[in-house]
Amino acid sequence: MDFFPGFLSLKGRRCVVVGGGDIALRKARLLHSAGAHIDVVAPETSQAFAEYIERHALDHTPRAFLPGDLDDAWLVVTATGRPAVDGAVFAAASERQVFCNSVDDQANSSYITPAIVDRSPLVVAISSGGTAPVLARSVREKIELLLPSQFGRLAELAERWRERAKAQIASLPLRRRFWERVFGGRVPDLAIGGKYDEAEQAVADLLVDFADRTPASGKAWLVGAGPGDPGLLTVRAVQILQTADVILHDRLVSDEILALARRDADLIPVGKKPGCTVNTQEQINDKLVDLVRQGKHVCRLKGGDPFVFARGGEELDALHAAGFTADVVPGITAAAGCAAAAGIPLTHREASQSVVFVAAHGKDSVDRLDWPSLARDRQTLVFYMAVARFADLMNQLIAHGRAPDTPVAVVERGTTPEQRIVRGTLGQLQMLKEARCIESPAILIVGEVAAMGVSRVQAVAAAVPRSVPQSAPIYAKQDVMI
Ligand code: SAH
Repeated sequence: MDFFPGFLSLKGRRCVVVGGGDIALRKARLLHSAGAHIDVVAPETSQAFAEYIERHALDHTPRAFLPGDLDDAWLVVTATGRPAVDGAVFAAASERQVFCNSVDDQANSSYITPAIVDRSPLVVAISSGGTAPVLARSVREKIELLLPSQFGRLAELAERWRERAKAQIASLPLRRRFWERVFGGRVPDLAIGGKYDEAEQAVADLLVDFADRTPASGKAWLVGAGPGDPGLLTVRAVQILQTADVILHDRLVSDEILALARRDADLIPVGKKPGCTVNTQEQINDKLVDLVRQGKHVCRLKGGDPFVFARGGEELDALHAAGFTADVVPGITAAAGCAAAAGIPLTHREASQSVVFVAAHGKDSVDRLDWPSLARDRQTLVFYMAVARFADLMNQLIAHGRAPDTPVAVVERGTTPEQRIVRGTLGQLQMLKEARCIESPAILIVGEVAAMGVSRVQAVAAAVPRSVPQSAPIYAKQDVMI
């Protein structure tokens, strides 16, 4: 981010507008609407600007700009149309640490103005950091359509109830929930539809309801974050991310996904790696229960699905044992995400009637697997946490009768920008791992279906012999065939 976004309080503060033309007038109008005390510095002004100055009793210094004009200013806008003058204004402003905007001249500006959607008191400001003003304007147009013109009435209504809500709902988390209910229920429709009395009544009813509540109503959600691509989050997961007070997340959940969290939410990484203060499963359970007990809304965000090799069941038990309830929001498990990214159907009418998800974490658990059943034909096996055990898996499956030429596919960091797909046969598995330096997190798919994305890869390869265009499916870009 090249610019720090913020809204300035200019009420009664001296702001200087240098220039007397139409653009300077526009800037003066905007500053005036924010209550600034405006001094226009210009030897002459347009007729319209002169009338505006008179009507609103702005100060006018009718001469060329002098650096001393900025001595007690908070802000200056320069729009003289003469780069040398704008440059001099910027230099004088910088010397005095006064923020300066030279219209359409970013090099001579220490702040830039955003495109705005004004539904005062609700104001949306959009900026492309000066790189693409037209893009910012097109986003503004979209937002204009999203926010009906009466939207400001809703913010006014909220403003009227703010103090009362504060007085009657002492607990901050509860108050936040009250406002979520106000804005998430029928109040916006009523206010926007012009039914102000009914909207006021609905807020009053909600306030009575919340004022009676005890503050300690914490809650937890066990939420699946999917395999990596933020586009694979569920709508429910995004909603919870945007409202939870605390997000207790697996270490591998990506920054892009965490960026969807409410801005002031606490993000707490948990896991078995450095940087995580909460490490063991027991500590995670305790932390979860403790936060809910404090009345917090806690999102326990887990990679993939919370109930697939994720110890979500244990966390749910811990919450229940402490007397709390929790909702579970499923996520796309790595097997489904990676298979989709590789174009591999997990089941197939001809080749595979069932699919088995297997955890291959640790030698003991691998030894305890039911190998005769896993080695049977016409089924797809998907191994999680298996990279360290490839040699064991290969030997056991072959020893129990699965053919060495059974296709396999390994999807490493599936659905992320670093995704890599390695294909081969069961008998080559250990060799593939070494030759291709396969690392965790990766999913291993074993079965006839593992070869199925290949024909599509070949089709793409045949059509585009040298380079694969950006628009090609992701599995075509990184697919490696042995
Ligand atoms: N609950 C998760 C699984 C957690 S176990 C889920 O439903 O997906 C962790 C294992 O999941 C990793 O060792 C790896 O085998 C697999 N995994 C998770 N994300 C992955 C990804 N993006 N690509 C490949 N494998 C992944």
